Amino acid sequence: MSHFQTSFDARSAAVRVRFGPGVRHQLADEITHLGCRRALILSTPPQADGAMEMAADLKGMAAGVFTRAAMHTPVAVTEEAMEHAHSVDADCLVALGGGSTTGLGKAIAYRTDLPQIVIPTTYAGSEATWILGQTENGEKTTLTDPKVQPEVILYDAELVRTLPVGMTVNSALNAMAHAAEALYAENRNPMSTMLAVEGLRAFAAALPRVIENPEDLDARGETLYGAWLCGTVLGQVGMALHHKLCHTLGGSFDLPHAETHAVVLPHALAYNAIAVPDLLAPVTGIFGGSNPGRALFDFARSMGAPMALRDLGLKRDDVAKAAELATRKPYWNPQPVTRPAIDVLLLAAWAGDPPAA
Ligand code: NAD
Repeated sequence: MSHFQTSFDARSAAVRVRFGPGVRHQLADEITHLGCRRALILSTPPQADGAMEMAADLKGMAAGVFTRAAMHTPVAVTEEAMEHAHSVDADCLVALGGGSTTGLGKAIAYRTDLPQIVIPTTYAGSEATWILGQTENGEKTTLTDPKVQPEVILYDAELVRTLPVGMTVNSALNAMAHAAEALYAENRNPMSTMLAVEGLRAFAAALPRVIENPEDLDARGETLYGAWLCGTVLGQVGMALHHKLCHTLGGSFDLPHAETHAVVLPHALAYNAIAVPDLLAPVTGIFGGSNPGRALFDFARSMGAPMALRDLGLKRDDVAKAAELATRKPYWNPQPVTRPAIDVLLLAAWAGDPPAA
């Protein structure tokens, strides 16, 4: 199938990517390659042991360790980490973890221009984008700036083996959502489409193998490869209805990030398949069936993903409020976004029903 378009704009970031089991042990070389000598290692509290081990491996090249990264990048934590970076005279940042830790590294880099090396341990894909979301006074804002793009990414499949199965599935569906929406993005280009199709294929092939055996290093590697492709595509094109719904549900109703993506994605795809069946044809090509939304619904269910927003804590009474918020200032979307249609979509997602064909 050709992804050719008669005209398009494209951009790609100059990022050094290294991939392979054990590649994290090359970290000292990467720090030297950046012209740096004193790295500040970042992690969340549960990943503090890994961060300490990494610092011990680096010997004199680890200037310090900061282990208080938190979900949604609170500005107060960023300020604390910046003080720490200053006090230990750090000249680069190493983020070991998922999107929360990567977000902290990006937030520090945005304010200080320190170079970043990211060692991802989930599939969120933040390491491959210029996007930074931050929270202050209970409000999340997002900015896009080349300064926040990490310079180096080390993808080491050994590190995702510890990701529990439930989190693995949710994180994978979160990544797949970036690729699925990229297929119909207003500013898509042939390269973003190729990345999206291959990212979805990688997850379709490898995720069932990971669920069967979470220790399978090859399968873990292929899912991490999928995460790189899906994250890269997120950094290249704009997002539409699916991401708008997830941002509304996460931002205004405090629903968990990756789980919300997992539930909403089949419904958003079914909604948009009405307008752009050809652009979504790769989804059924990869996952089977004749309707992209239903195909992903069945795939997510077979992986044991959460299927209903009510199980994530959304109250029945909040469905209408969420529909109102999500349709007030909608993102561009191939299928017109109307309040009655979003009411129906969110009600099905709330109940865990299959998406309308
Ligand atoms: P996370 O980074 O918050 O990790 C979730 C939990 O899992 C944490 O407690 C972490 O310590 C733990 N964990 C991570 N990897 C593990 C592993 N291998 N083994 C065991 N435990 C592990 O979650 P996430 O889903 O990766 O990231 C979500 C955040 O990233 C959100 O704030 C989201 O907005 C952001 N994000 C940003 C972008 C972007 O481009 N800016 C893209 C995707 C996600």
